[in-house]
Amino acid sequence: MRFTAAAKVFVLFGDPVEHSLSPAMQNAALQAAGIDGLYIPWRVKSADLPTAFESLRGMENFGGANVTLPHKEQAAVLVDTLTKEAASVGAVNTVVARGGRLLGANTDGQGFLRSLHEEADYLPRGKPAVILGAGGAARAVSVGLAEAGAEEIVIVNRTIERAQSLAEFVNRETGVSAVGLGLDDPRMPARVRNCALMVNTTSVGLSPSDPPSIDPSLLQPGMLVYDLIYRPLETALLREATKRGCQVMGGLGMLLYQGALAFELWTGQKPSEEAMRQALVAAIA
Ligand code: NAP
Repeated sequence: MRFTAAAKVFVLFGDPVEHSLSPAMQNAALQAAGIDGLYIPWRVKSADLPTAFESLRGMENFGGANVTLPHKEQAAVLVDTLTKEAASVGAVNTVVARGGRLLGANTDGQGFLRSLHEEADYLPRGKPAVILGAGGAARAVSVGLAEAGAEEIVIVNRTIERAQSLAEFVNRETGVSAVGLGLDDPRMPARVRNCALMVNTTSVGLSPSDPPSIDPSLLQPGMLVYDLIYRPLETALLREATKRGCQVMGGLGMLLYQGALAFELWTGQKPSEEAMRQALVAAIA
């Protein structure tokens, strides 16, 4: 990678950040676009995030930032303005410098929808969806699906209060019917069997020895099973879903597209998605 002393600096805020694939992917995009810039991970504790954001305002060669766990919600209150998506999700994964002000965007939901559409040929409109998990990723995915016209969204989570609170949030923000259930709710099996799309947004599956995040006997042929996890590329859930005749999709596409959208917001240019994908695959390997 080559850059000069006038290089634009792009940063990733998180804690931890060492595991992130974004530096590999975004540096590949900068290089492919011939941009004099570099993308670096910046590990920062929550208590220090306000100071880190303040320093961006004075950095004249600031190119843009990403925000990852656990800072996405906090970042939403540290920027000056929010895009519509970031405001409706209440979280920021991308920061853009606009005329000395910081704009907070969230590209996770759009990245997910684009992956669904382009890689799985799936359009959510009029179809019921089940989301496993109720954390930050579930929030972006459920709001994205609701805004794309999903018929009903069922959120299933280990901690039922979080499932119910996210369902109320989706209902209130989008007007789409949403229900929050616990893992042992008697209504859950039928909702899973009858859905067109099931999305795993839990972290169950990150370890190769993790079991599927739901009883695989509920999965039906023809259903699309999407796992946000991208490392490993195939989780136990996806393996079981494939055996049962489901269409399956891992999280690499969402990672790529949310990053491509961020790059476009920072630079005004479409990145080489091929270079980004190759960098991701190499980093995972
Ligand atoms: P988060 O806010 O910490 O939420 C984690 C969720 O997983 C919660 O719903 C939690 O349930 C559930 N969970 C954790 N351990 C569990 C267990 N042992 N059994 C059952 N449920 C469990 O994390 P996040 O930001 O939403 O991220 C979730 C996953 O999505 C991560 O694997 C992340 O890598 C992935 N992700 C991928 C992309 C992409 O671009 N592909 C983007 C964002 C996130 P409780 O509420 O009960 O704790």
